[in-house]
Amino acid sequence: MLERTLAIIKPDGVRSRIIGEIIRCYEQGGLTPIAIRSTQLTKEQAKDFYQVHRDQPFFDDLTSFMSSGLIVVLALEGEGAILRHRDLMGATDPSKAAEGTIRKAFGSSIDCNVVHGSDALETAGKEIEFFFSDDDLYSQIE
Ligand code: ATP
Ligand code: MG
Repeated sequence: MLERTLAIIKPDGVRSRIIGEIIRCYEQGGLTPIAIRSTQLTKEQAKDFYQVHRDQPFFDDLTSFMSSGLIVVLALEGEGAILRHRDLMGATDPSKAAEGTIRKAFGSSIDCNVVHGSDALETAGKEIEFFFSDDDLYSQIE
């Protein structure tokens, strides 16, 4: 099924100047960026975005990190995009991620793991809406 998912190149990825390499992985993995923009989240916006984790011990560190610098946000489209993207990203902890994945190649720790990806159809829709309006999205989905 043709799907959309949300990707974020996190502040560590932008600071390491590997935006191009990461987008290349998406393209080579069959995912088409249908919308892209750069922004910096406020701490409040980061808390809102990651609210599912609000009771986790890592919530404060996560939201401070995510609001610490520029990010690049992409809506990606492709066949089975949500799982395909999760496969390209690799496991949350880069030390446990499979060879050839983005987090294995570029991640330095579970906190600084370079990329975010939506984990399900429903969250993908909500996360894309968080950053993009319908007018921003070129789509082959009618
Ligand atoms: P993301 O949502 O950023 O794509 P993910 O879906 O692989 O990552 P989640 O379980 O949603 O992982 O956790 C969100 C983020 O919180 C992770 O990317 C990671 O930086 C951080 N995190 C998750 N689990 C832990 C943990 N046990 N200790 C520290 N940080 C964690
Ligand atoms: Mg997640």
